[in-house]
Amino acid sequence: MQADKEDEDDASPEEYVTLSDFTGRGFDQLSFSSGDKLLVHAKPTSEWWWAELQGVVGYVPASYLRPDGVVEEEEEDTSLQDPWQDEEYFGTYGTLKLHLEMLSDKSRTEAYRQVILSNSTALGNKVVMDLGCGTGIISLFCAQLAQPSVVYAVEASSMAEYTRQLVKQNSCEEVVTVLQGRAEEIELPEQVDVLVSEWMGNCLLFEFMVESVLLARDRWLREGGMIWPSSAALTLVPCQADSYYTEKMAFWERPYGLDFTPLQPLAHQEFFTKPKFSHLIEPDDCLTAPCDVIYLNMYTLQVKDLEEIKGKFHFRVEKPGVFHGFTAWFTVYFESLEARGATVELNTGPNSEPTHWKQTLFMLDRPVSVSAGDVIAGTILLRRNPVWRRHMTVTLNWNINCSTEDTENSQVGTKSFPMWR
Ligand code: SAH
Repeated sequence: MQADKEDEDDASPEEYVTLSDFTGRGFDQLSFSSGDKLLVHAKPTSEWWWAELQGVVGYVPASYLRPDGVVEEEEEDTSLQDPWQDEEYFGTYGTLKLHLEMLSDKSRTEAYRQVILSNSTALGNKVVMDLGCGTGIISLFCAQLAQPSVVYAVEASSMAEYTRQLVKQNSCEEVVTVLQGRAEEIELPEQVDVLVSEWMGNCLLFEFMVESVLLARDRWLREGGMIWPSSAALTLVPCQADSYYTEKMAFWERPYGLDFTPLQPLAHQEFFTKPKFSHLIEPDDCLTAPCDVIYLNMYTLQVKDLEEIKGKFHFRVEKPGVFHGFTAWFTVYFESLEARGATVELNTGPNSEPTHWKQTLFMLDRPVSVSAGDVIAGTILLRRNPVWRRHMTVTLNWNINCSTEDTENSQVGTKSFPMWR
């Protein structure tokens, strides 16, 4: 939101309609209700536009708007688009690429195996639902390592046809029943004792498969039943990302002895506007101890809570360095079915074995030098896209208080990162 809104004041404003309610934050964001008509005066970034509503001006999130008065045909086209993009989503799970990636991820797959193994006695005679079973790996672990009475393996993609074959090939058809369909739509003959799923996405929530788990919980989990994972945490750390910064931004300073800095705003837009998925942070690049910013209890979490999830952070810099951005990762916890059984953890952070999720890097607009003792404090907000239900925007607000200066020299920053819409 640092671009100069004066730049485009000359252009005539465009009319837009808002797609849902929005509550502005800070002094420069507008609040509006679904269906309001706005005049957009400037589009300083692709995410935040400068707009006017009933004579009041401020920033608005571009993803909440659609042009007013678009021709009917176009409007029809938009409404035909599925906000869940299920065709594309389940299409990719119908091919092997993602399953190969997930099954090759030993930390992930072994964590689920460990959960089944360490609960093998308690799983005896239990009814299990494996939501989004994919190739059926978790269901097969259940049948192989424990004696549940039945495992309902639910899968919406066409992979389900192969999963049936895999169940048979491994002689598990007595226990595992594969049901092809969306978990929201399938019917089970009974309630389940255990609901297990591997639903986590980048930055924990991306793709929002978690919604399907919550709906299945409310419909199919018997009272007092177990959910695996039982809880989840999102962790954040301020970090250096020197090589990424050099590769994408500093590069333009003097390639082949020439000044290419006029390309830096473009580089900025192209590489630092969205988060970088699949970043592997070195523990050494963490400037502070990490901090859990969001915690989800899978028993009490509601679908409506997913619209806006807020967290706070307060970090103390441990060593001098360059603050390039924030890195995020998640951990999920699997409670034991046994009274004093150990909780199994799947941690996707830099101090654990790397997983296929890796970590997510949020680059600041400008690097900031920090010293030991400086405090970086602020908030994180995960706002689900009101239209594209598998997407969200992560907004970080922070201030840096230098340990050696008075607070007047503190720096504040804010940045919103769409993932991806
Ligand atoms: N459990 C498997 C696959 C996990 S990936 C494993 O651990 O390897 C998530 C899977 O859930 C995908 O195969 C996807 O097609 C499926 N899925 C996502 N949402 C679903 C829903 N609402 N109903 C049924 N299947 C779903």
